[in-house]
Amino acid sequence: MAGSPRLPPDARPRPAALRRTGLGAARGGGHTGGMQLQLAGEARRPDRESEDFAAASPEALVLLDGASSPAGLESGCRHGTAWYVRRLGVHLLARLTDRADRSIADCLADAIVETAALHGGRCDLAHPNTPAAMVVAARRHGESLEYLVLGDSLLVLEFKDGPPQVIGDNQRFPGGEELRRQVWETVPGSAERAALHLEYALAERAARNRGAGPWIAAASPRAAEHAETGFVPLDRLHALAALTDGASRYTERFGLGSWGDVLRLLAESGPGELIAEVRRVERTDVGCERWPRGRAHDDASAVYALL
Ligand SMILES: [Zn+2]
Repeated sequence: MAGSPRLPPDARPRPAALRRTGLGAARGGGHTGGMQLQLAGEARRPDRESEDFAAASPEALVLLDGASSPAGLESGCRHGTAWYVRRLGVHLLARLTDRADRSIADCLADAIVETAALHGGRCDLAHPNTPAAMVVAARRHGESLEYLVLGDSLLVLEFKDGPPQVIGDNQRFPGGEELRRQVWETVPGSAERAALHLEYALAERAARNRGAGPWIAAASPRAAEHAETGFVPLDRLHALAALTDGASRYTERFGLGSWGDVLRLLAESGPGELIAEVRRVERTDVGCERWPRGRAHDDASAVYALL
């Protein structure tokens, strides 16, 4: 525009919020705003939609892993697991960010009730195979990080001092362990594996969300009472990672590194690289022989947040 002074691009004043600080700058501490987040996710197969879900704001994050269902098993729901995790995830994120007066478990219970209402009258939410999910959630709450983990997804806390703390895998199903081992001993893709997997799935669903559980998010808000929750002072924390079991395989199944190694990889290369590394290793063992597991690839999602 004629008459207006033109500044060279690097001389333009920029609002503080838009300045790039980079991960290295934040590592030194003193970052008092919201969290700085990165997230990544990948379906187990390119032709299938992921049944994981991750979302975040600077104040809060959610990570969900939909319980996969053997093909052909009735669910009583016309929407499906991918639909369920997306609805539950966004409702939970909204609750976390605007209901500081409710505990994080209450926020999950509220989001389960809201999501149940979205099914409408045509879905049978009492069906044992109704869509269900593992949940990790965390939010800044005053001077603390408040967290919740339900099921076999993991939350890894990185402290400014001391070793990482891993929270999760808290809804085991001891009654099904032997059956699960038998599944892994069969040939992937075989009829025998399909039959045993179905047997395992039916046993797990018969026990799910009653008595000793396992309890995971489905249609009943009571599941939230079984979540592991807590507070950690923000000034003790450096970063956190939330991982579905498809991503935590890096350490848990493949033993590619310690939790400290995972946190370093996330800090240096981001969650997409963690998942890419898992995929590279999975492709060296598509027969699931070296590392017995339910399937060669699983939906994998990871969130990394600098506090
Ligand atoms: Zn439904």
